[in-house]
Amino acid sequence: MTEMPIQPFRFPDLDGSFHLFIKREDLVHPIISGNKFWKMKYNLLECKKLNAETLVTFGGAMSNHIVAAAAAGKENNFKTVGIIRGQEIIDKWQDNETLCRASELGMKFRFVPRDEYRLKEKSELIRRILNEIPNHYLVPEGGTNALAVKGAAEILDERTSGFDIITTAMGTGGTLAGLSVGAHSRQRIIGFPSLKNAGFLVNEVLKYSNKENFTINLQYHFGGYAKVSEELIDFINDFYRLNDIPLDPVYTGKMMFGLREMLKNGEIGADKKILAVHTGGLQGIREMNKFLKKKHKIVLIDC
Ligand SMILES: *Cc1c(COP(=O)(O)O)cnc(C)c1O
Repeated sequence: MTEMPIQPFRFPDLDGSFHLFIKREDLVHPIISGNKFWKMKYNLLECKKLNAETLVTFGGAMSNHIVAAAAAGKENNFKTVGIIRGQEIIDKWQDNETLCRASELGMKFRFVPRDEYRLKEKSELIRRILNEIPNHYLVPEGGTNALAVKGAAEILDERTSGFDIITTAMGTGGTLAGLSVGAHSRQRIIGFPSLKNAGFLVNEVLKYSNKENFTINLQYHFGGYAKVSEELIDFINDFYRLNDIPLDPVYTGKMMFGLREMLKNGEIGADKKILAVHTGGLQGIREMNKFLKKKHKIVLIDC
């Protein structure tokens, strides 16, 4: 497969003296975008090896992973089932962009109450649901497992070996774990979680990587998962105008904002060669704009 471009970029309010590059994994696949493509890669091979019929996974109504799993199933001739958090959306999932796309790609849904969802396979209800799906292969929430980490490690290769610092957005930490595993000994990884109170992610990453070559910057969550501020929206729009590179509001926008702050305040030295990984997620722009319009707020430029 063709390798994704590594492009220089700038920040609107910083001079051009920094060494800033972005690896465009958002372009890796039209639907299985960014890090989800890499996280699915070895899971799909395993699913085939086991001759499984149905790929089952978990997600919330805004989950990029759900769409990625649906698309991967369609492309590889697996049926797909999504166990979706929140029984309350059972009658109105058609209003949700993510679930509509997944459904168009053939995914069937099982909606479960939040308290059951939290327990995953330990929930009696979820166990019953799984028992009714013959010959299935289970991919965990967010797609993170050892095979996902193995795939994400392949985002780094010879072309990226000259960079000092690699940055990524974080949800479950699987992608950062992969980058940690795939990095050279001199390279450092910096992760920017889009969740509030994400300190637990250090241990999540250490489940899959035994290297201590990473830092997690907990500051740039903007209030939590799928929360945004006007300042963040402005930043993403300015970044797009200047670089012609779209960022999503849930993940990559927050990472880039955090990276800019770390350069501005000297936490990252100006001599460092930096590679930001674009983990995709651009379909999140439309869902966010629907919400922002309703609140009469400024919206993201739709690319
Ligand atoms: C899912 C997702 C992430 C989070 O990846 P993890 O491996 O769960 O940390 C980051 N960026 C984008 C665009 C995503 O869709």
